[in-house]
Amino acid sequence: MSAAGPAALAVSWWSSPIDRAVNGGGATDTYFPRLDPAAFAARGVVPMGHAAFAFVLGVALGLVIRRTLPAMATTFAVQAAVQIVVPLWIRPHLAATARTTVPIKPDGAPISIQDGAKQIVTHLEVPPVLGHLVTGLEVTRIRDVGAGAVALASDGASVRADAAVLASGAWLGGLAAPFGVRTPVQSGRGYSFSLPPDGLPTRPTYFAEQRVVCTPLGDRVRVAGMMEFTAPDRPPDPRRVQAIVNAARTLLPSADLTRRTDVWAGPRPCTPDGLPLVGPTRSPRVHVCGGHGMWGIALGPLSGKLLAESIVTGRRAPEFDGAASAAVRDTVSRAGRPCDAPELG
Ligand SMILES: Cc1cc2nc3c(=O)[nH]c(=O)nc-3n(C[C@H](O)[C@H](O)[C@H](O)COP(=O)(O)OP(=O)(O)OC[C@H]3O[C@@H](n4cnc5c(N)ncnc54)[C@H](O)[C@@H]3O)c2cc1C
Repeated sequence: MSAAGPAALAVSWWSSPIDRAVNGGGATDTYFPRLDPAAFAARGVVPMGHAAFAFVLGVALGLVIRRTLPAMATTFAVQAAVQIVVPLWIRPHLAATARTTVPIKPDGAPISIQDGAKQIVTHLEVPPVLGHLVTGLEVTRIRDVGAGAVALASDGASVRADAAVLASGAWLGGLAAPFGVRTPVQSGRGYSFSLPPDGLPTRPTYFAEQRVVCTPLGDRVRVAGMMEFTAPDRPPDPRRVQAIVNAARTLLPSADLTRRTDVWAGPRPCTPDGLPLVGPTRSPRVHVCGGHGMWGIALGPLSGKLLAESIVTGRRAPEFDGAASAAVRDTVSRAGRPCDAPELG
């Protein structure tokens, strides 16, 4: 027990950031590390409980069998059987089964990830008093010039504004690092392809176990899935597409998966703990808005609205003071207070 105690505490300490990240992974993530059979037995005081049980079992069997080696072997066998039987067949019956039904509103039309932003930008109306919309620039650097921020582009152009918001998705790190943002934003790429609708769901459908989503879009159905951690600009890996095809084949036996078109891979901007990065950097004129991972379409507009309000009014939105602001606080505290030492140049 004295060995199991420190070992269990060390494992719990080491794995706590991973457990927090997995638990913070989103509402569709059905994996909870502390209740997972393997993780439950390896965290906190549970290993000490197992060690105590093995000790008492060994003593009891020793009293009954009265021979050292057979008693040790029997203790080992019983303890191993308990480790298998309890998590697999007994523990699941200790908690009531939870069932949740989530109705999908009939007026909630799905949008295409690839075309959604383009459609929004196409219809964006910028009032003349706010300036004009600039598109097609690849920003290589942001400069804080004291009274404002300047975006420098690869073609030599520059755009000046009162404030800059870095919202460059999985590419956020390069532009944000000079402003003290240390939280990495990693590209977790998803894949999708389109199929004719025959044999496919007629409503948006999420197959949670296989992590495959079918979304009717126009006259096609988009099939999406996968989380691949790699550089955002790499070409799609055909093996990842095949993995989705293999997973979908058992779910959708009457669909013709060979007729796929529009094979696409796109980066989800992921932070280590799953929380978005929204707020000021070391410079009060340069802000970040990103790291929404799997939820950027749903959460991005709200983050943008709250951030815009806080930039204009100078008051932090109360929504940033809850759990979702942990990453913001992390950014700010590691970068220095927002008003400290603005990055000039
Ligand atoms: C398969 C798949 C399914 C998804 N499903 C959902 C879903 O159902 N619901 C949901 O809410 N979210 C979903 N997401 C996640 C969502 O797409 C992302 O969270 C969201 O796109 C992130 O938005 P963003 O603006 O931060 O980054 P992005 O959408 O990646 O936009 C960043 C933009 O910045 C540009 N950029 C980068 N660097 C520069 C630079 N230096 N200069 C100029 N421009 C630059 C990029 O070209 C890009 O256009 C899904 C993602 C994938 C891949």
